[in-house]
Amino acid sequence: MATPPESFSQRLVNWARVKSPWITVFNSGACNACDIEIIACLMPRFDIERFGILVKASPRHADILIVTGHVTLKQASRLRRVWEQIPEPKYVIAMGACGASAGAFHGLYHIMNRVEDVVPVDVYAAGCPPRPDEIMNAVLTCLNLLKEDLANGGKEWRQNKTGTIMEPDKQSG
Ligand code: SF4
Repeated sequence: MATPPESFSQRLVNWARVKSPWITVFNSGACNACDIEIIACLMPRFDIERFGILVKASPRHADILIVTGHVTLKQASRLRRVWEQIPEPKYVIAMGACGASAGAFHGLYHIMNRVEDVVPVDVYAAGCPPRPDEIMNAVLTCLNLLKEDLANGGKEWRQNKTGTIMEPDKQSG
C-alpha cells in the first residue's frame, strides 16, 4: 500500500528534528570523564549549540539519548525507563569503551557489561573518554540515520539490524 503524503505540519516537525536535535544524557555508572567531554562540547571551544544541538534534561523532549559509562545493576531499570520516555523516532549513543563492553570494568559483579543489554544502541562513540569531535560525529551519524528513517517511513525497516531488546531483569539474574 502506498504511503500517504506527509502533511505540512509533519514535514515541519521532521525538518526541525533534523536541523535541531535535542539530546538527553544519562550517566549509568560512568567515571564522569565521559560526562566532562560532553560538557566540553557545550563550552565555547566546540559550542555544539551553534549547530542547533541542544542538551535537555527531560527525556520527553529529547531525540537522542547519550549513555555514559557501563550499566550498573541498579541503574539498568532506570536507564530503560528513561529510554521508554523518549518519543519515537529516538536514537541512542553509547559513549566510550564502557558503553561498548564496560571497558576497564568488564566482568565486575555489580554491572551489566553493555549498554545494548538494556536499550538498543544506534551509534558507538569510540574512546575512553571519546573526544568532543567524536561525540559530535556520533550525533551527526544519528542525524543521518534519522534522515534515512524519515525517507523510509520510520525505523521499522532496519529493526532487524538493531537486534532484540533484552529486559534488564532477565540479564541480571
Ligand atoms: S569510557 Fe572511559 S572515560 Fe568513559 S566512563 Fe568508561 S572509563 Fe570513564
